[in-house]
Amino acid sequence: MYQQYFTEEHNIFRASVKKFVEKEIKPHIEEWEDEEMFPIELYKKAADNGFTGLRFPEEYGGTPCDIFMLLAYTEEVVSCGAGIAAGLGSLNLAMPPVLKMGTEEQKQKFIVPVLKGEKIAALAITEPNGGSDVANIQTRAVRDGDHYIVNGAKTFITSGCRADFITTAVRTGGPGFKGISILMIDSSTPGFSVSKKIRKMGWCSSDTAELSFVDCRVPVGNLIGEEGMGFYGIMINFQSERICLATMATGIAEAALNESIKYAKTREAFGRTLTGFQVTRHKLADMATRVQVAKEFNYRVAAMMDAGLDVTKEVSMAKNFACEVCDKVVDDAVQIHGGYGYAREYLVERLYRDSRILSIGGGTTEIMKEIISKISGF
Ligand SMILES: Cc1cc2nc3c(=O)[nH]c(=O)nc-3n(C[C@H](O)[C@H](O)[C@H](O)COP(=O)(O)OP(=O)(O)OC[C@H]3O[C@@H](n4cnc5c(N)ncnc54)[C@H](O)[C@@H]3O)c2cc1C
Repeated sequence: MYQQYFTEEHNIFRASVKKFVEKEIKPHIEEWEDEEMFPIELYKKAADNGFTGLRFPEEYGGTPCDIFMLLAYTEEVVSCGAGIAAGLGSLNLAMPPVLKMGTEEQKQKFIVPVLKGEKIAALAITEPNGGSDVANIQTRAVRDGDHYIVNGAKTFITSGCRADFITTAVRTGGPGFKGISILMIDSSTPGFSVSKKIRKMGWCSSDTAELSFVDCRVPVGNLIGEEGMGFYGIMINFQSERICLATMATGIAEAALNESIKYAKTREAFGRTLTGFQVTRHKLADMATRVQVAKEFNYRVAAMMDAGLDVTKEVSMAKNFACEVCDKVVDDAVQIHGGYGYAREYLVERLYRDSRILSIGGGTTEIMKEIISKISGF
C-alpha cells in the first residue's frame, strides 16, 4: 500500500520553517560559524515562530503534533548546516525527561520558560572518561538534608556554555544503571562552572562545553523522577534523538546533493559542463539514490514510532545507514566541486564537516551495531 508521510499541513509548516531559515539564519550563518556561537535572540525568534515546542503539550506552551513535523523542521534547518539545528535542538534532549518523569511544578518551572525561548536547556550525560558506557557515569550526588551535593564533570554538552537549566545524569546510588538519577541543575548554582568551550570540526555555530561541578548544592526538589530512575529517563529520549540525527544526516546529504547538481550544471571543464561527463551524472545518480533510500527508511521508522511500536533496532539501523550515506554523499559533493569544495565559502565544505559528528553523537555507529545484533539475537 502506498503511504504518504507528509500531508498538506506538514507542507505548510515546512514552508514556514523554510522562510524562517531564509530570513533569520542563512544571511548570518557564516558569521555565526566563525564566531562559534549564534545570538541568544535566535532561541526567542524560534520560539515565537512555534518551532521550539514541537511535540510538547499545549499546557506548557508546546505544539502537539506527529513526528513528521519535527522531521520536516529538521530537514529545513539543516539545509545550511547543522550547527543551528543542534543548538536550538538541545531542549529536545533536555526537556523530555522532565516531561515524562517530572512533577507538575517542575514542568511549569523548567519546560515553560524554555519553550518560550526565555531560558536555555542542555542535557549533560557524557563525561570526560566516557560517553558510550552511560551506565558507568561517575558524577556523584550525595544527599545532605534538603540538598544533593554534586561533584564531577561533563563534557561535549551542546548549549552547555550558556544553558540555564542542565538536565544532569548523576550517580546517587551504587554502580551500574540502577544507581543513576537525574537532577536539574541551575547554572547559577555556586560551584557550577563552564570549564571549557570546546572548539570543533563542525557544528561550529553550536556551542559545546565541558562543565564542572564542585560541591554544587542542588535542592532535592530538582530531582527529576525517583532516585535510581535516571537511566530510564535517559533511555526514553534516545529513540527520538536518533531519528532526528538520522534526519539531520539525510537533510545534510540532500543539501549537498542539490548544491552538487547546481554546480555540475554550470561548471565547465574541457569545453563542457560537468554534467556533460557521464561519470558526473552517474555520481549524482548514486548520490540521489542513496539520499532517497535513506529518507524512505527514516520515514518508515518514524511512522512506526508514531504508531507506538518499539523501534529500538530499526532506529539504530536508520541512524547508521543515514550517517553512512551522509558521509559518502558529502564526500562526493566536495569532489564534484573540486578545489571550491574545500573552500570555506562553499556550502558543501561546511556540510562535509557537519556530517562527521552524526555517527558519533547520540550513540556511536558501533553502539548502534551492538544494539542491532543484541536485539536480532546474533
Ligand atoms: C558536537 C557534540 C555534541 C554532543 N552533545 C552532547 C550533549 O548535548 N550531551 C551529552 O551528554 N553528550 C553529548 N555529546 C557526547 C556524545 O554523545 C559522545 O561523544 C558519544 O556518546 C561517544 O562517547 P565518547 O566520546 O566518550 O566516546 P567513547 O565512549 O570513549 O568511545 C570511543 C570509541 O570506542 C567505541 N566503543 C565504545 N564502546 C564500545 C563497545 N562496547 N563496542 C564497540 N565499540 C565501542 C565507540 O564507538 C567509539 O568509536 C556530544 C558530542 C559531540 C562531539
